[in-house]
Amino acid sequence: MRVSRLLLVTLRDDPAEAEIPSHKLLLRGGYIRRISSGIYAYLPLLWRVLQKISTIVRQEMDATGALETLLPQLQPADLWERSGRWAGYTAGEGIMFHLTDRQGRELGLGPTHEEVITALAADLLRSYRQLPVNLYQIQTKFRDEIRPRFGLMRGREFIMKDAYSFHADEDCLRQTYAAMDGAYRRIFQRCGLRAVAVEADSGAIGGSASQEFMVTAEAGEDLILTSADGRYAANQERAVSRPSVALPLAAAPRAGGVGDRLSTPGQTTIEQLCSAHGFDPSQLVKVLLLLARFADGQFQPLLISLRGDQQLNDVKLANAVSARLSGAHGALLSIDPLTADLVRSERLPLDLSEIPFGYLGPDLADQTLAPDPSHRSDTAGVAPPTTPAVQLTRSFLRLSDATAAELEAFVCGANAADHHRVGASWAGLGLQPESLDLRAAQSGDRCLHDPDQCLQAARGIEVGHIFQLGRKYSEAMEARFTNESGVDEPLWMGCYGIGVSRLAQAAVEQHHDADGICWPVAIAPFAVIVVIANTQEAIQVELAESLYAELTAAGLDVLLDDRTERAGVKFKDADLIGIPWRVVVGRGAAAAQVELVRRAGREKLELAASDVRATLEAEIGREIAGATLVA
Ligand code: ATP
Ligand code: MG
Repeated sequence: MRVSRLLLVTLRDDPAEAEIPSHKLLLRGGYIRRISSGIYAYLPLLWRVLQKISTIVRQEMDATGALETLLPQLQPADLWERSGRWAGYTAGEGIMFHLTDRQGRELGLGPTHEEVITALAADLLRSYRQLPVNLYQIQTKFRDEIRPRFGLMRGREFIMKDAYSFHADEDCLRQTYAAMDGAYRRIFQRCGLRAVAVEADSGAIGGSASQEFMVTAEAGEDLILTSADGRYAANQERAVSRPSVALPLAAAPRAGGVGDRLSTPGQTTIEQLCSAHGFDPSQLVKVLLLLARFADGQFQPLLISLRGDQQLNDVKLANAVSARLSGAHGALLSIDPLTADLVRSERLPLDLSEIPFGYLGPDLADQTLAPDPSHRSDTAGVAPPTTPAVQLTRSFLRLSDATAAELEAFVCGANAADHHRVGASWAGLGLQPESLDLRAAQSGDRCLHDPDQCLQAARGIEVGHIFQLGRKYSEAMEARFTNESGVDEPLWMGCYGIGVSRLAQAAVEQHHDADGICWPVAIAPFAVIVVIANTQEAIQVELAESLYAELTAAGLDVLLDDRTERAGVKFKDADLIGIPWRVVVGRGAAAAQVELVRRAGREKLELAASDVRATLEAEIGREIAGATLVA
């Protein structure tokens, strides 16, 4: 390909819309253009990168015996209603674009394909003899992300490879999951990426075990926690650790566990309370008042207790709340702090004026949720008259993190303005908290597997995610088969995603310098760029043309910079777009000498034009072979 014909439009300055290096460089290098928020055109250079990644993905998927397919992007709502995910994906913070067709039927634009594939499995799979089977596709996905950002990293339209496997038993599912794990490691390595596998939360997809693959980079949106011995790595959403030991409260427990009342005017934060009275944060129980919203229109107030030195992990909380209430109320749509603003915006029949924010104790009475003071005697849990759409539970779901639940005596709010209680105990407050894991593990925490190991934090970009789904979808959608003993049972299922377009940008995030991209050769749009330093010199043009023809004939992806621009401009562009090898045909052309430059690290080599092909073949072969070695 000739640069003069490439529609190469590079930008000298950083575009204002881009914050992170990879996004800036893809825009500046003429790889992508923004069409709208989270929606990008993949220009010819990027399309070549995406094709190369897709080829590697296909080869590794095919090698595991998976079959390529292509499923519809327009998906009928009733499939999603059958799996129970329509409301969760379309209401509240749901990310599915959805529409109504001319017949009034509702459809969604596929954010993922569990429903479609499970419906197909129900139709196609009958017997254990057809199992296992693994189907994959490489296709555009649509997600109305709440915060689309960083270019291809979090788009609203992006390319994903997704695979779905079906099995007669759990053991077989585990084997395919392990095979996918191996294939993913090879894919990322062949693409030239340093990726780490971490334990992950299964989120809205569901299922039991799941593992993410993270490309470590400063710009990553995920926080990953790893132990130095390499035996533990997890996304913070999921990570577990040993909490520090709490300092015992000297005064414990007091007044039959009700605690001594302490005047604490204006001391509504842990810091204020500790500095005024010399408490340690680990001696406090802090109480968060939140509101969960469910697909059936139900609102459930939550009262969450945490030890004062711990932070809430939102994902663990959402999982705990879903596990308790989604059976009755459908998908959990959101959890927000219960504030006067929220009461107003959701038109909740609730009066918060009596709630002593900043002074809450875990025993805050359900009666505080009564609609107004005259209804204070309402029985907890009985819904008073409300506007028809809003259903509000008039009692708290009380959940406690283990660090709080295990305290024998503690300081907590007195449920009265300007007062706390010192030396309270759970029994004294009339509560029997269940010990849950709701706290966020942090960098520096000791590891569960070895207390001498501490967690270290790093940022990561999630490029892949594999799940053991179990029978969640097959049970809901009646995808069943007849087993070896002739008994009918639901299929076992796994699913496996790679963000192909995100991976391309993650590669840039990991491989760039001040002047531009340094593509790993396996996914570079072109492996070599031949630059004619001065197109006025016939001898340079002639030698460059013959090298271009020779390298192309040898099967290399070659660009020829035949533009009449100054050499400096061409070198800058070659650096920016990040072609791994540059062959400069300049003054040495008369003596059939050229310069070979490796983009990453800028090593230079003067050599005879006749040696260029063999040298490049050897170098590129070595890089590809190195990246093919299994980690
Ligand atoms: P995230 O947590 O980043 O929102 P996810 O866990 O919802 O992603 P999955 O459903 O696991 O994503 O999708 C499989 C893969 O698709 C992810 O590992 C990621 O690489 C990619 N991906 C997901 N959402 C996006 C997006 N909005 N833009 C680009 N790639 C995405
Ligand atoms: Mg994921």
